[in-house]
Amino acid sequence: MILLSLRKKMILGTALLVVLVGSALGLLVKHELHSRFEDEILKRGLSVARYIAEAAEIPLITENKTSLEALVNDYRKLDKDIEYIYIVAPDNSLAAHTFGATVPQKLINESIKNLRSQGRKVILTTASGRIYDISTPVQGGALGSVHIGLYESLIDRNVEGVLMRMLPFVLVILVLGISAAILFAAAITRPIALLTGAVKRLSMGELNEPIAITSHDEIGHLARAFNSMTDKLRTTTVSREYMEKLIDSMNDVLIVISPEGVIQSVNHAYCELFGYQAEDVVGQCLTDFNELDAPLCMFSAFSHALEHGPIHGIESNCRTDHGDMVPMLYSLAVMRDEEGQPQAVICAAQNISNLKKIQDALHQKQAELEEVNRNLEGIVASRTAELAIGNEGLRAEVAERQRKTEELRAARDLAESANRAKSEFLANMSHEMRTPLNSIIGGTEYLDSAPLSEDQQRCLTMIRHAGDSLLVLINDLIDLSRIEAGQLEIISRPFDLKHTLEQVIHMVGQAAEQKNLTISLNSHPSLPQFVKGDQIRLQQILVNLIANAVKFTQEAGSITVTTSAASADNDQIPVTFVIRDTGIGIDPNKLDMIFESFSQADTSITRRFGGSGLGLAISRKLVEAMGGGIQVESMPGEGSTFSFTIPFHITSVVPRSRTITPAQEPASSVLALHDVPAGETKRVLLVDDSLENRQLMRLLLRSLPLELDEAGNGQEAFDLFTQNSYDLIFMDIQMPVMDGYTATRLIRRQEENSGCRRTTIVALTAHAYESDIQKCLDAGCDDHIAKPFKKRVLLDCLAHHLIPVSHQGDAT
Ligand code: ADP
Repeated sequence: MILLSLRKKMILGTALLVVLVGSALGLLVKHELHSRFEDEILKRGLSVARYIAEAAEIPLITENKTSLEALVNDYRKLDKDIEYIYIVAPDNSLAAHTFGATVPQKLINESIKNLRSQGRKVILTTASGRIYDISTPVQGGALGSVHIGLYESLIDRNVEGVLMRMLPFVLVILVLGISAAILFAAAITRPIALLTGAVKRLSMGELNEPIAITSHDEIGHLARAFNSMTDKLRTTTVSREYMEKLIDSMNDVLIVISPEGVIQSVNHAYCELFGYQAEDVVGQCLTDFNELDAPLCMFSAFSHALEHGPIHGIESNCRTDHGDMVPMLYSLAVMRDEEGQPQAVICAAQNISNLKKIQDALHQKQAELEEVNRNLEGIVASRTAELAIGNEGLRAEVAERQRKTEELRAARDLAESANRAKSEFLANMSHEMRTPLNSIIGGTEYLDSAPLSEDQQRCLTMIRHAGDSLLVLINDLIDLSRIEAGQLEIISRPFDLKHTLEQVIHMVGQAAEQKNLTISLNSHPSLPQFVKGDQIRLQQILVNLIANAVKFTQEAGSITVTTSAASADNDQIPVTFVIRDTGIGIDPNKLDMIFESFSQADTSITRRFGGSGLGLAISRKLVEAMGGGIQVESMPGEGSTFSFTIPFHITSVVPRSRTITPAQEPASSVLALHDVPAGETKRVLLVDDSLENRQLMRLLLRSLPLELDEAGNGQEAFDLFTQNSYDLIFMDIQMPVMDGYTATRLIRRQEENSGCRRTTIVALTAHAYESDIQKCLDAGCDDHIAKPFKKRVLLDCLAHHLIPVSHQGDAT
């Protein structure tokens, strides 16, 4: 059978079909044409015969043979298609004819014979082809009959003529038919070729390329079904290539062998380890190998595995192609088909050279360990002895350390308790020293207004200076001890900076005036009016430095205080204060020293000027506690410049303060108090355990329209409060029996219970720190005056609390 592609078969088949159909049609047409032309010729022959029959009637009657001959011959000449014409007489003799010399008697006889039975048309077969013999009777046969002979080939010629004219059309139809067949074949075979390609790829394991057929006919359905099948295959099966890669990328050796012992495949690890090419080994029989060579070395259990199933963990030494021996650990497994018949034996093997080496090393180590073990007992015994000695030493050392720690702890406790005792002592001392000082300073103030002799006045001034100096010293000492104990309190609240500066200048103004010194204050425009910080401490530092400048500057010198502010950073504004004097100056060697506690640049000078040597030390500590720094520049004989910078906080709050400046004369308060209308005498209770203090207060307030009661402790004060109604109570804090805090609390509770009006209570205490003031306010006090106090402070306080605002305004 000829091997033809589907496409060629389709084209050939279609062409054949076209030719067959064309030929059948041709034959049909030919046959049809033939019968048509036959009819036509018969009609023509008959009409000619009839014409001649009519024309021959008279010559036949007259038996004019010549006319008859002329008639047939003339007509024969007229129509070339006519083969012969003859006229038969009633006696069947030839009356006239066109045959010439040789008359075909046989043909004529046959025609006449057939004519009787068949009618007017007789087909006669001659040597030169078939002839249609057409005849018609003359006068119903009474005069004979006329015969016309026409060759059948005349019909064929006509048919051929028509067919030849049809031929180009037939050819065109044929070409069109074959072209259509080619296109049709292509339309069918192209998708089939694509499908075939995809199936081939699939058989080779390529699952990633779908068929690009989008038609919606049966082939399109087939392609889509095929694509979805490959999709499923892709997700559910693993390609052979993938499997081969997997096996080749294994580190372990893998060999597959048929049940007959023929090696089917080896992986890359096998070739690598044993130095063979895969094609040298695959297809070989196990028996082709030497017993020690790979792979036979790994198949000593081959038949056992086939019979009894998998075998695990067998060790064997295998020889490589280079002759080296490699220790291998291998396992055999049998792969079986559905019926359980073995398909292949699979060997997985591992190179265990490294393991062997480790094992050897371990054996060696074990031997060594055993050796060591044997010696160990002796070593342990000697080590134990050594350790025992060492342990003893360690124990002694630990005990010694513990003892030292104990000592240190005891020393620390002692130091802490000493520190506490020191703080308590200082606090008590402060209180105990301030109380008599209160009497001294208050007494001198009272005497100031008394008429005294000049000597008495000088003596009084001396006592007042001594008292003032003592107070400064006590305050400094307390400050220093607090700073050293880490108890320094820095308060931050809004205050009037410019006013504070003016106030300080005022405070030292009198001393400067006495020495005929000029003090000038230059505040840079950048200086803010209000800042947030510790006003009291700033005041203390400024007083220290300006008082020093006054102290160490000779008569007619000058002191300049300059202040300026740097630009603000976040909410902080650094303010610098510079105090320059034209005084005695400081020796450059002593510049570092003067900031130390109790140190002075020159003790001879100290004798001249006095001082404790604490002022600068405290000032530096305060500046540093506020986050700033202090410096000094000085030239002996030319003067000194102290400068310090403190970062204050910016504030938008305008402070509410009742500041009393030394410049304010007490006159206004006193006048206001005197102004109180008669009959409105205010009642004041003085609470203090010191009789001297109570007496001093009485002396200071003597001239005012006040009714004064006294109590020696808190309990007495509370009793008096329950019996009388007071406008104001001056309450000492530290007292025997009941302290001022308790008494104040009791009074406030009593007021709350009875619903009576609130009595003003002013704490009067030698405890002068911010925390002390806060404690008084917390207990229920309205105000606070620190001991020792000046008469003016006392009067101001009275005026503030006792006189309505309208009266104060009138008095000033
Ligand atoms: P003091 O109470 O002795 O003044 P300070 O600590 O205030 O103690 O000062 C320490 C020493 O620094 C002073 O004794 C003095 O020798 C020196 N000193 C301080 N300020 C000045 C100054 N403006 N001019 C010269 N010497 C000064």
